Amino acid sequence: MTPTTATDTLVVATGNRGKLEELRALLADLPWRVLGVSEVLAEPPLVVEDGETFADNALKKARAVARATMTLTLADDSGLEVDVLAGRPGVRSGRFAHDHATDAENNAALLAALDVIAHSAGVTAERRGSTEGFPARFRCVLALVDPSVRGDSASTVEGACEGLITRTPRGSGGFGYDPFFVVEGTGKTMAELSNAEKNRVSHRALAFASLRPALAAVLARRAAEVAAQVK
Ligand code: IMP
Repeated sequence: MTPTTATDTLVVATGNRGKLEELRALLADLPWRVLGVSEVLAEPPLVVEDGETFADNALKKARAVARATMTLTLADDSGLEVDVLAGRPGVRSGRFAHDHATDAENNAALLAALDVIAHSAGVTAERRGSTEGFPARFRCVLALVDPSVRGDSASTVEGACEGLITRTPRGSGGFGYDPFFVVEGTGKTMAELSNAEKNRVSHRALAFASLRPALAAVLARRAAEVAAQVK
């Protein structure tokens, strides 16, 4: 497909199917056709995710894809922060095991890093989480870029979901670290939640709730442009 300039389309700047499906569901009540970047571009731009923060990387992805498609673009940069690992894997969550790691490889790397901690002296039971698991959170930054606006239209929002890392995976939903992440206050891993449940409590859902005013502003701007044309 060639780059589209369609105003009825929102491009999600991700190759991650899990993220795309969750964002599609979150966007379902809005009037855009939601396409993944590989559905719009035969060769999506290569974005090196070398930012120090989720926001740096989300903005980098959103800007690159907005430039390449000239279409309203939403990017997600997200990951897992484990307290006892000083916030790792963090921005490297998708590449924790190595640069082209699968979810299974990253999950194995996470357990190996936690094993080292569990066996090292000097880590308090409180930081380790002892019987229940290791305190952690999923964090998500969403970046929105509207290339029809002159100047820098980029905006970012953030969401976080607290929980504990368990060593015994449970559930088959979601993606990534979901089977190892027990969502605070539910007793269930993220992978044991239904898609709809995950999209009520997740870091991505919370970030998306904060993005709604920016999305509403895009719609209002587009409506005003149409109204001005028909005068
Ligand atoms: P990114 O593509 O650089 O943003 O990396 C995201 C990585 O963070 C994913 O590959 C997963 O490992 C992890 N991650 C982000 N969001 C989730 C989630 O909702 N569930 C499980 N893992 C997630």
